[in-house]
Amino acid sequence: MTAPRYAAVVLPVPVSRPYIYEVPAALTDRVVPGARVVVPLRRRSVVAIVTGLDVAAPPAGVGIKPLAAAPDAEPALSPSLLELGRWISDYYGAPLGLALRAILPGPLWSIARPAGPAPAAERLFVLTGNGVDSLLERDRRFKRAPKRREVYEAVEALGGSAPVSHLVRQLKLSQSALDGLVQQGLARIERVPEMRDPFADLSSPPPPTLTAAQQAVVQGIAATPVDTPVLIHGVTGSGKTLVYLDVLRTVVAAGKGAILLVPEISLTPQTVARVRGVFGDQVAVLHSGLSDGERADAWRALRRGERMVAVGPRSAIFAPVQRLGAIVVDEEHEPSYKQGSAPRYHARDVALMRGQLENARVILGSATPSLETLSDQRIVTFALPERVGSRPLPPVEIVDLREAPRIAEAGAIPWSEPLDAAVLGALERGEQVILLLNRRGFATFVQCPACGNVPNCPNCAIALTVHQAPPAMRCHYCGHEETIPDTCAVCGAATQRLRGLGTQQLEHFLGMRYPRARIARMDLDTTTSKWAHHHILERVGRGEVDILLGTQMIAKGLDFPNVTVVGVVDADTGLHFPDFRAGERTFQLVAQVAGRAGRGRQGGRVFVQTRAPAHHAIRAAAAHSVSQFAAAELPLRSPPNPPYPPRTGLVRFVIATDDHARTADLGEKVAGWLRRASRERLDDQLTVLGPAPCPLMRLKGKWRWHVLVKSAEPRVLGRVVRAWRAKSHRAVTVDRDPVSLL
Ligand SMILES: [Zn+2]
Ligand SMILES: [Zn+2]
Repeated sequence: MTAPRYAAVVLPVPVSRPYIYEVPAALTDRVVPGARVVVPLRRRSVVAIVTGLDVAAPPAGVGIKPLAAAPDAEPALSPSLLELGRWISDYYGAPLGLALRAILPGPLWSIARPAGPAPAAERLFVLTGNGVDSLLERDRRFKRAPKRREVYEAVEALGGSAPVSHLVRQLKLSQSALDGLVQQGLARIERVPEMRDPFADLSSPPPPTLTAAQQAVVQGIAATPVDTPVLIHGVTGSGKTLVYLDVLRTVVAAGKGAILLVPEISLTPQTVARVRGVFGDQVAVLHSGLSDGERADAWRALRRGERMVAVGPRSAIFAPVQRLGAIVVDEEHEPSYKQGSAPRYHARDVALMRGQLENARVILGSATPSLETLSDQRIVTFALPERVGSRPLPPVEIVDLREAPRIAEAGAIPWSEPLDAAVLGALERGEQVILLLNRRGFATFVQCPACGNVPNCPNCAIALTVHQAPPAMRCHYCGHEETIPDTCAVCGAATQRLRGLGTQQLEHFLGMRYPRARIARMDLDTTTSKWAHHHILERVGRGEVDILLGTQMIAKGLDFPNVTVVGVVDADTGLHFPDFRAGERTFQLVAQVAGRAGRGRQGGRVFVQTRAPAHHAIRAAAAHSVSQFAAAELPLRSPPNPPYPPRTGLVRFVIATDDHARTADLGEKVAGWLRRASRERLDDQLTVLGPAPCPLMRLKGKWRWHVLVKSAEPRVLGRVVRAWRAKSHRAVTVDRDPVSLL
């Protein structure tokens, strides 16, 4: 009799330590690193991943149970994906169990595994005609049934049909609304074998031939070594997507696989259709709107090599694409690539690591690349400085709100005469207008109306935030406090407390000012259902909307040739936000939204209203110049100023509990532990800021404080997050390379 073998397995729980099980002889062939296994755990059976084999025998007396099953012929995770999981765990200080849980989709952690062919399932098909195609008629038919409309439009966006179970369970739509639609004659329900590729019917004609500039980028990338990541820095409207698709076509033609990451909000049916237009049924779309069954099917098709191209948001970076040849990260500057819960990975950085592990080419793309990417010495940049068809980038007019004549009836809304005249002109000519108002009203700051000065923290160089009780200005990084000044420290004029305006207020005003205009608002309140933003945009595309106003959601990837006027109503709310990236975000937002104008033959104009017309973020955005912005911003984040990423590494510890005093107290303890660690073990290579209340001090019923840790030495930060991982304190979350400090 041979000695028993033992396997180390990891469960999808916040624990790093593996569990040890005995490998039954019958399962030996299938129990390899990366394989899914079913293990008994406290009278239940759970799915785990094998991370090690032939681990040391446990000490005598410890009861070791045998693995119950190994369901897959091939291991679920390839050696490189398992390695990627280890890197995520170590780099971000997340338990390995959570890193692996992020890599393998939810349904694969479930014991109940759909076997054999897909079962017959109820599917809802929406019916067209009946007047619902016209918006006016649609409004009338659904007047008293908004829930039915929500169902109708969700299914419409999913391509005209969807599994009933998906609508009810995942999208949380009401069953009675579904039944109501059927009774109304607007939908029918059929039992059909679940087809589980909701995008199967989408396709666009093949893309047009490349311009000379696009062709040059494609050739430049081909001539770059595969292990050198590249950035396509293309202005808005330069056709980056065509370049990606062309590069990927070569990769796929060579028998390799590819991943195309796009921000969730850009993953529209049109995007999918474009990709399918090139790769057809080779494409697997990984969308958060998929049902569990659809997600599992897409994952298995990729794992088996039946589909070679994965398209999806953040988590698609873990798609089990075979013979991976290339990864594209479109709009790489998007904060949505950062996962908001542990493991708090950034898909761009995971892409760079995965590319290295699998020898795949990594291509980043953006019109407004992040400073992290721009300062990364490994990355080679290719520029697409001009729009397709030589359409000029629209001229940007900066409106100085301190001096510009205003429309009196606008009241508290800064509505200047130049913007008003441009909007009126566009409406008269039957053209469309986009207005951006980034509502982030909770952070009140002090600003001098005469010179535009905003008091900053002397230690941290971010705007101080006004608090009511007790009245003071406070720094949300280090806790520094000052009294609220009555007069400006620069010019002596009386100061003002400013609070962001709301999009609803603006919508109300626009309705009065331009009574004949058809106005649509797009913000978090109007886009709660899954495809709502997509519908609003479709209406704009069909010319049913004259003025589209909204928060930063409207800045992304819109391409409407009839939009000739873009207005940034108040650029300052974002500019003086208590975040060291406030300038960068404002620059990106203004530059991106400015890029929405002038896509058509009529050209376009952009108006940016601000009290800080000399600010480098505003000026660089007006010049559509990333290099101008970076040249001004990077020195501000470098010594002798307080250093910030990319000039230093940053880790944020967030403490959240039900009790304010306990949160503050725990914040002191975390900061104390970090300061001690720096002094005693890390040669004083850490800078510890705080504790201080988070700008969002109350969130979901919890009090929140944070401690910020900086170091120029990545290895030092790695040691800190791993040491903290071992302590695993439930009230404290660790966020390495945070994209938000709210
Ligand atoms: Zn002043
Ligand atoms: Zn400070």
